Amino acid sequence: MNILITNDDGIYSPGIAALARIATSFGNVRVVAPDIEQSSMGQAITATRPLWYKKSPINFENNVEAFRVNGTPSDCVALGAHLWEKIDVVLSGINMGLNVGNSMWHSGTLAGAKQAVLLGIKGIALSTPAGDTEPDFKALESFVHKTLALLLENRDVNLTNVNFPAKPKGIKWTRQAVQQYDGVVIPGTDPKGRSNYWFSVRPLNPAEEGTDRWAVDESYVSITPLRLDLTHEKDLVDALTKQPVIWE
Ligand code: MN
Repeated sequence: MNILITNDDGIYSPGIAALARIATSFGNVRVVAPDIEQSSMGQAITATRPLWYKKSPINFENNVEAFRVNGTPSDCVALGAHLWEKIDVVLSGINMGLNVGNSMWHSGTLAGAKQAVLLGIKGIALSTPAGDTEPDFKALESFVHKTLALLLENRDVNLTNVNFPAKPKGIKWTRQAVQQYDGVVIPGTDPKGRSNYWFSVRPLNPAEEGTDRWAVDESYVSITPLRLDLTHEKDLVDALTKQPVIWE
């Protein structure tokens, strides 16, 4: 199995090193990741300047080849798939920070997996919380291994978003938490006294049972199967029924 690994925290993140180490027990691993952090860049692609890649001297274990790219996670997956044929799966992460609920809309980590699916390749995004201390990736290793074993042999799921709590006690299938968020903007000032602003979001309600955010709150690994088709089937059927032709 050929496994392409990317992330949005950048190639020097400990999260991608941990994922590469674990992935080597499932097949041939190659790392193609952004040269600098690209968190919250979503599915952005670089369209107005050229991309390049360089073989990275950083020492991944088990002699994993690694390349850094001056682009986004989506760029890395597209370039990796161009340069290395027959990729079976793209793993994106392990992100330093959860990607549950609304985060899926701007997550660069998930975008790496989505880009894989756009190219006809299975995609799995993996994230874990990061606070004042770095995540204990060694402690998570057995759960990452179990999750990958489950998803790599499962042909029913093609795109999945996985979130690991700091100390998992099991694994649950979940759906995306869709709640209202406050989308708060926090004003500040720079050293010269000029105004600047930080974008932040906080959920307005507690997580609903069965959702990704709920599972992680309950110390379960959350696996959410996703699809790229955003079409609202019921609204489409209703619209077609009421007004099959808008203009002709
Ligand atoms: Mn990130």
